[in-house]
Amino acid sequence: MRTLLIKNGTVVTHDGIKQADILVKDGKITSISPNISENSNQTIDAKKLLVMPGGVDVHTHMELPAGDIFSSDTFETGTLAALHGGTTTIIDFANQTKGQSLKKAFSRWQERANGKTYTDYGLHIAVTDVNDNTLREMDEFFSGEGVTSFKTFLAYEHNKINLENLRMVMKKAKELGGIVSLHAEDGGILEKKLCEFQKTGKTSPEYHYLAHPEIAEEKATAEAIDLAIKEDCPLYIVHLTSKKALDHIISAQKNGAKIFAETCPHYLVLNKEKYYNPDHLEAAKFIMSPPLRCDEDREALWEGIFNGHIQVIGTDHCPFTLSQKKKNLSEFWKIPNGIPGVENRMELFFHEAVNRRGLSLTEFVKLCSQNPAKIFGLENIKGHIAPGFDADIILFDPNEEHILSSETHHMNVDYSPYEGMKIKGRCKKVIFKGKVVIDDNKSLISHPEGIYLKRT
Ligand SMILES: [Zn+2]
Repeated sequence: MRTLLIKNGTVVTHDGIKQADILVKDGKITSISPNISENSNQTIDAKKLLVMPGGVDVHTHMELPAGDIFSSDTFETGTLAALHGGTTTIIDFANQTKGQSLKKAFSRWQERANGKTYTDYGLHIAVTDVNDNTLREMDEFFSGEGVTSFKTFLAYEHNKINLENLRMVMKKAKELGGIVSLHAEDGGILEKKLCEFQKTGKTSPEYHYLAHPEIAEEKATAEAIDLAIKEDCPLYIVHLTSKKALDHIISAQKNGAKIFAETCPHYLVLNKEKYYNPDHLEAAKFIMSPPLRCDEDREALWEGIFNGHIQVIGTDHCPFTLSQKKKNLSEFWKIPNGIPGVENRMELFFHEAVNRRGLSLTEFVKLCSQNPAKIFGLENIKGHIAPGFDADIILFDPNEEHILSSETHHMNVDYSPYEGMKIKGRCKKVIFKGKVVIDDNKSLISHPEGIYLKRT
């Protein structure tokens, strides 16, 4: 039996903060109490460090096909970068292709991911073609593969479904005990805007922002919430960016609807000014959908976090290199959509939320680890420090300062959206299932040991 003892740390979980030691046996946490004196193979002194659950990022796109290219992090490089930043579990998306089965999507993603991840991972399935077979397959994947969450889109030719189809997916998910997530943008509004800009020669990157107006997000959010209430199905809005959409979420939550919201660090830290850079490649670094918004939206998101209306910080990690971004700079709709972030999420959010705005440590753990684990069916193994849970633990120095840069990050992308930003708070050690895998920014692991997680 392999044992690890973490001594003298300040243990932070969603339900409290205490001085305690943690004993780990064969990758699982077995006890937490002051002054554990059992012999162990390895003992770590966590004095002056915060001891928190490993991060759970439920929104990543590793090796995502985008036309004839892929997002630049593979499951291997992306999950190793995640570990460096304290994230020990990811949930990525297997996207159905219209005309094909969910099975095909799932197996294509498993070919890329299985055996190649340094973190544990799950897969959501994005449902883009709703028919009898798809609905039957939702049953199969729920019970057979532990896929408890189904993503939907109301925009984009390849992904879009209509409201009646969304209702059918919700009805099925409700019957199964699963959850539906939504990329909330209205396709009709987006198509009209794009067409207008193409016709009038407005094709540079700032029009990406103007082609994805807040109203498109608000409309899709409101319509999906109405359906979710009618079908009594839990609904999770991914990458929320704007105040008006959030207002719909808040009023539904106040009426008791099971509506959850996620936002991402870039929407909390950056704003739309990035798109007005005369250097179009600089602007292209920030092209993702929905786009960055104005400061008023950003402040509303922060308020939503502090008031408990936003439950999860995800990243929507989907990096493209500068050479991938560089093609077609004069036709904004052809610039690959996505921004890196999986490695930065915990440290950057800690700095912005805890240091700068005074969020409590327990809320930090809820937003980055426990809530995502709970909402997506990992409640009893991830996101918490308690007996029986996987020993995914980070030792975090709240006072160490460092500078974010593409020269030092581990993500396979040659720019950082946060280049040069000085932040306080750093993961000093990352423990993955009882093993120290990152120590002072060095990886101690030689090959991927993550497994696929069947969720419940
Ligand atoms: Zn995404």
